[in-house]
Amino acid sequence: MRAMVLRQPGRPLELEQRADPEPGAGQVLLRVRACAVCRTDLHLVDGELPDIPLPIIPGHEIVGEVLRAGPDVKWRPGQRLGVPWLGYACGHCGFCEDARENLCDEARFTGYQLDGGFADRVLADQRFCFPIDAAYSDVAAAPLLCAGLIGYRSLVMAGDARELGIYGFGAAAHIVAQVALWQQRRVYAFTRPGDAAAQAFARELGVTWVGDSDATPPQLLDATIIFAPVGALVPRALAAVRKGGVVVCGGIHMSDIPSFPYSLLWGERVLRSVANLTRQDALEFLELAPRVPVRTHTVSYPLEQANQALADLREGRLSGAAVLTMDQA
Ligand SMILES: [Zn+2]
Ligand SMILES: [Zn+2]
Repeated sequence: MRAMVLRQPGRPLELEQRADPEPGAGQVLLRVRACAVCRTDLHLVDGELPDIPLPIIPGHEIVGEVLRAGPDVKWRPGQRLGVPWLGYACGHCGFCEDARENLCDEARFTGYQLDGGFADRVLADQRFCFPIDAAYSDVAAAPLLCAGLIGYRSLVMAGDARELGIYGFGAAAHIVAQVALWQQRRVYAFTRPGDAAAQAFARELGVTWVGDSDATPPQLLDATIIFAPVGALVPRALAAVRKGGVVVCGGIHMSDIPSFPYSLLWGERVLRSVANLTRQDALEFLELAPRVPVRTHTVSYPLEQANQALADLREGRLSGAAVLTMDQA
């Protein structure tokens, strides 16, 4: 197999040839067809996540085809499956029994603690694999697996908000906005000040209002979701929601949140994070996406150009999602 490997945070990924791994009990070996690039991959390669086991293969928005299945596996060779960020949970702790395996203390994450999809082969736990609707190509489906899933969980946590703000208009936002508009919500897109490309992209999707992240929306919002990893947005988002409104932080990493007056939280405003995803989120969202239908905007790169894809994401040169593609071998 070929893989782009992180040996040291802060260093480029390195192309490596390895023997294909053998699937154990409950595991499948997938031939990876596409893997989207997520902001979390940037946090990983930049060393902003704790306790990274090195070397590691990043990538957790994987679309692949079953090559071989270990014992006790329900999937069959040739089936197309998606593999998301949550790659393992213990199955028996209080969180797991509560269907909140996203919070399991023993959870393991694809492309962080488990080798991921920046490779042409990947091992996956069969419990955390999901069939992909035939309406989607491999490349189009890949961003659904994280930007879509965690975006969807963030949207659910925003409640029944009719006036919905979104800070940071990248891969997750472009999917969430489509679902929210389909659900008859009004969407207010906040981008980096002066980011004309992101603002044009949001307008193309038909959002209600577009502005800079330091702008005041034309009316108070019922909820906002923050996808940008910028803690300074938290007080701004709180100031933009009405009493009883909700601010959801959808990213795994955020810069420090500056102190702010209690009056911004007062009035039963709620500030919360969203961590990872559950299997129920995956089932619900992957069933919903083709009905909307969610259309993903993607920019493809060959696997070997993973470093270029990461650089383009870091510099904000992308509208939508970067997706790595693998030669079929
Ligand atoms: Zn992700
Ligand atoms: Zn557990």
